[in-house]
Amino acid sequence: MAIICKSPAEVEKMHRAGLVVWDVLSSLRGMVAPGVSTMDLEKFAERRTAEHRARAAFKGYRGFPCVLCTSVNNEIVHGIPSAARKLKDGDIVSLDYGVQLNGYYGDAAVTVPVGKISPELEKLLRVTRESLDRAIAQVRLGNRLSDISHAVQSWVEENGFSVVREFVGHGIGTVMHEELQVPNYGAPGHGPRLQEGMTLAIEPMVNMGRPAVRVLDDNWTAVTADGSYSAHFEHTVAVTSNGPLILTRPKEVSGASW
Ligand code: MG
Repeated sequence: MAIICKSPAEVEKMHRAGLVVWDVLSSLRGMVAPGVSTMDLEKFAERRTAEHRARAAFKGYRGFPCVLCTSVNNEIVHGIPSAARKLKDGDIVSLDYGVQLNGYYGDAAVTVPVGKISPELEKLLRVTRESLDRAIAQVRLGNRLSDISHAVQSWVEENGFSVVREFVGHGIGTVMHEELQVPNYGAPGHGPRLQEGMTLAIEPMVNMGRPAVRVLDDNWTAVTADGSYSAHFEHTVAVTSNGPLILTRPKEVSGASW
């Protein structure tokens, strides 16, 4: 397994890419409202990506048609934006977005409530975000990779939800998906030790019901097999001697990951 450790200068470049991701996702979060279509979000993301002179990482990746993945309600990941998909009060929408800037990638995701959502959905979003927070807290020198995975799974299952197995986090750098996989499940204490300069996209995908996944006929949209709602939060994170450094947000932002 090739683990590519980045120099501080490379981590800095990844942070610059990550700040574009943060800017776009932060703006999109503010746009989410009943009546907005997922294509409206795509159009904004496309325009803002160009303003940053970045290259959208997803468009064209294995033929994906858009710069943004928009996954609504029972859709887990890889939903394709559509003018016909207007968001409704009580929906949740996961926004997954990545860029390449000066040769380096950033990748992040956030699930956003549309209008007023049910207490159960509020809990799903909170627990998924907290599972990412807990995973990021494990990004420390000397810890093992599966300590991250275990932090996600244990928190999610303690709260009565389930983690998706078919899609995992990943190493990231000058390519979007480096070989290293970061599952959201597993016993602690396994896998490679975390080393300075490792850069990981950590991305819990959490289902309210069972973990099983089905892919729609568009060959992209992954939905829960049981129709239950699903949430997705992600950050690109670097291992540093000072602990985890979240690359897909500004350094001055602290506290909860999203
Ligand atoms: Mg990712």
